[in-house]
Amino acid sequence: MKCPRCGSTDVNVQIVSETEIKTKKKSVWYWIFVGWYLEPILWIFLTLPKLIWELIKPRRYKVETKTREIAVCQNCGKTWTV
Ligand SMILES: [Zn+2]
Repeated sequence: MKCPRCGSTDVNVQIVSETEIKTKKKSVWYWIFVGWYLEPILWIFLTLPKLIWELIKPRRYKVETKTREIAVCQNCGKTWTV
């Protein structure tokens, strides 16, 4: 591989992984009709069970991992994606 800037072949390729966490939020309609009075009641009367439920319920997010390769020129320091 050649550096596009200086033409050097002294190029180091690194694999970079990026992790994204996407959260799912409750809908606006849930908060308008249910959430604003249900949530405080649940927290007052069911704090402990709700805390336990928060710990054991299915996670409302998914993790996406992307990998990409980045080339780094050892001569001039230019970086670019492969
Ligand atoms: Zn270079």
